[in-house]
Amino acid sequence: MTPGSEPGRGRAASGSGARYLWGTMNDDLLESLRRARHVAVLTGAGVSAESGLPTFRDALTGLWANHRPEDLATPEAFERNPAMVWDWYRMRREAALRAEPNPAHLALARLEELVPRVTLVTQNVDGLHRRAGSRTVIELHGDITRVRCSHENVAAGEWTEPPPGGEPPTCTGCGSYLRPDVVWFGEALPEKALHRAWAAAYDCEVFLAVGTSNLVEPAATLPWLAAAQGAIVVVVNTTMEGQRSGTGVHHLTGTAGEVIPGLLEAAFPHYIPRP
Ligand SMILES: [Zn+2]
Repeated sequence: MTPGSEPGRGRAASGSGARYLWGTMNDDLLESLRRARHVAVLTGAGVSAESGLPTFRDALTGLWANHRPEDLATPEAFERNPAMVWDWYRMRREAALRAEPNPAHLALARLEELVPRVTLVTQNVDGLHRRAGSRTVIELHGDITRVRCSHENVAAGEWTEPPPGGEPPTCTGCGSYLRPDVVWFGEALPEKALHRAWAAAYDCEVFLAVGTSNLVEPAATLPWLAAAQGAIVVVVNTTMEGQRSGTGVHHLTGTAGEVIPGLLEAAFPHYIPRP
């Protein structure tokens, strides 16, 4: 056995130049994952970033550099300048559709075959978890690739993309503008999704918080609610700055695309990472 090749004993990611350490990926954690009946997962911007998708703020470059989020992602902004808001989301929708699921998305989809129940909660709006094959995805902030009626809040069926700078398409039912199916600043998170996320945090034995700083609600609370119920919490992020620690909390520092497949590989000997 080569040094450090023993599973779960602080080995570094193969081929990555040891960019992450499997900090506290000890036998307790692996055993908890193997025995778990229900694993809850919360993913954030870090997972999308690994597919090349910037955060909302980081996307404010080039033509959009002088815009503020409140110019582009509020109901008031859409009322004021629907064409501009539509163009901003068109740009981001096209980027999301061009992006590919990364190894973290694929491994999390595979997790559904390895444990009896997985609840995947995401703060991301790019639809990549679904495209990776995850079946149960709770979207806290919507999905940028979908559009809905701004008046009736129902999903739009057929619609035609306007030319750049053109008015957004309209609802075939009521004639109101269609809008991206995302949660804007000043809007409440979808209640049903939030309830399902809370319920999963209460019920799970293992909670994976992946690619999120866990500083903004509800991410700031969900993992710790799970920990308070006795769940093992695994924080996977490139930095542990601001992350809580404590009994049952494991910090795995690194990119999600390296750590998540590595974790599953260590916990489930029959796990075969997808190419
Ligand atoms: Zn309508």
